[in-house]
Amino acid sequence: MYRTHTCGELRISDAGQTVTLAGWAKTIRKFGSITFVDLRDRYGITQLFFNEAMNTLLEAQPLGREYVLEVKGTVIERSNKNLNIPTGEIEIEVKEYRILNASLTPPFTIEDDTDGGEELRMKYRYLDLRRDAVKKNLELRYKVSRAARNFLDSQHFMEVETPMLIKSTPEGARDFVVPSRMHEGQFYALPQSPQLFKQLLMVAGYDRYFQIVKCFRDEDLRADRQPEFTQIDCEMSFINQEDILNTFEAMTKHIFEDVKGITFAEDFPRMPYDEAMRDYGNDKPDIRFDMKLKELNEVVKGKGFPVFDDAALMIGIAAPGCSEYTRKQTDELTDWVKRPQIGMKGLVYIKCNADGTFKSSVDKFYNEEQLKQIAEVCGAKAGDLILILAGEQALTRKAISELRLEMGNRLGLRNPEVFKPLWVTDFPLFEYDAESDRYIACHHPFTSPKPEHLEWMKDKSKFADIKANAYDLVLNGTEIGGGSIRIFQKDIQEIMFDALGFTKEEANEKFGFLLSAFEYGTPPHGGIALGFDRLCALLGGHETIRDYIAFPKNNAGRDMMLDAPGPIDEKQKKELGIG
Ligand code: ASP
Repeated sequence: MYRTHTCGELRISDAGQTVTLAGWAKTIRKFGSITFVDLRDRYGITQLFFNEAMNTLLEAQPLGREYVLEVKGTVIERSNKNLNIPTGEIEIEVKEYRILNASLTPPFTIEDDTDGGEELRMKYRYLDLRRDAVKKNLELRYKVSRAARNFLDSQHFMEVETPMLIKSTPEGARDFVVPSRMHEGQFYALPQSPQLFKQLLMVAGYDRYFQIVKCFRDEDLRADRQPEFTQIDCEMSFINQEDILNTFEAMTKHIFEDVKGITFAEDFPRMPYDEAMRDYGNDKPDIRFDMKLKELNEVVKGKGFPVFDDAALMIGIAAPGCSEYTRKQTDELTDWVKRPQIGMKGLVYIKCNADGTFKSSVDKFYNEEQLKQIAEVCGAKAGDLILILAGEQALTRKAISELRLEMGNRLGLRNPEVFKPLWVTDFPLFEYDAESDRYIACHHPFTSPKPEHLEWMKDKSKFADIKANAYDLVLNGTEIGGGSIRIFQKDIQEIMFDALGFTKEEANEKFGFLLSAFEYGTPPHGGIALGFDRLCALLGGHETIRDYIAFPKNNAGRDMMLDAPGPIDEKQKKELGIG
């Protein structure tokens, strides 16, 4: 036995005991003829005390940081107590020790505040994982998965594994593909999600399925995406949308309660997609703060200000308490909206002074009365700063929604410890894709339209108005889950494929198995998938999902530790028929 206790376990009440510990030498502090070592394992840190006699041994064979030790000794009360750690009242007076393994000096300090940059830490991820901060994240991740499993189990969900080597599933991203050796020139695809398998499990009668599962999407990596990520993937039969929302709201509440001790007394608010777009400019509103978008076309047009007269859309927000912004600050905000990522030509502001007067960048065109009217529409109070963007519809909406979030950040209104979940419902069924000049599925092609919009599916001019039985779970401005009630009748699925521009042959070639399964008694069904990594990051109060994945890839999709992707040798290529 290498140890009788862990490094996080011993307390003052254990004083006098002889114990054996094993772990890593985190820090080594020499004071003349004695030495202190902080011994670390997964459970904590315990201080070791090498007295003069033991120190002589140490001098013969010096220890280095991260050496692996086995230490036998007596628990004694520490004279210099550290009340910041649970073991801080004791130390081990070392009687015997063994160096189990040496270590090179690590390339960065294994401390919460490390001196290692992210790329270096990713290269030596096994060392980074020794850091307490990273370990806490992985512990949280484990707790979230355990809480989800416990909840789903209590609701009779059954975890079923689905294959990784499959044929393409259309979730809107590119597939990762795997060449087949045995079938030269042919390829498997890695699943973007288990979507079709979970639907087939419903056909098979497994009416409550879940899986905590890896998904693969070959997307251009926008900020904080991983090519492989994990979903809590779920599907249910004989349910309607209400059942799904209630079940997964309960699961989310259970996870928060279990992992964070946070109780949501109220139901999660529900907001139709159209309302989210109107009030927040996007489909994942951060409702921790208000500052809603207000359309101003009616009050600002026709007053001789060319920018507003020529633009399709004008939207304003009222930033609370910002009327005292200096010229420098408003100029800086103007530069902010002009950045290429935001793409606006300029920013109009109106200061609502404390004395009820106004000062604006468009004083030339708008009199006091008109500015007051704008302020009223924006819901601005004395002391607020109204910010207005103008331009083309979609771009302006997107830009002001970004500006709203930016102002939320600047004003400290986006506290990561405050959690505001909501459901966004009634998504459009289709989305127009300008690049390919056609309609694509907004969620995926298996999502059902609202029954009252079914007949519009044969009329392209109505496509943009068709709403789907689709919903997202949104938390603090981030989508953490999405799903839909599925199409379960073959003829409707065929209409859907047709609407998406698939010929009958293409639909059969790609999804023949699904269409034929739909002929063997398919129950009404629907489901949802939660982004597990993202949920963990939000629960942990962090922005990046990399911190919650044991072995993540960097922003360019590379595994820095393995140095993957990398070339394969010629022989392997030949075998795979891709050389
Ligand atoms: N498969 C979908 C996704 O990955 C989720 C769902 O519709 O259940 O987004």
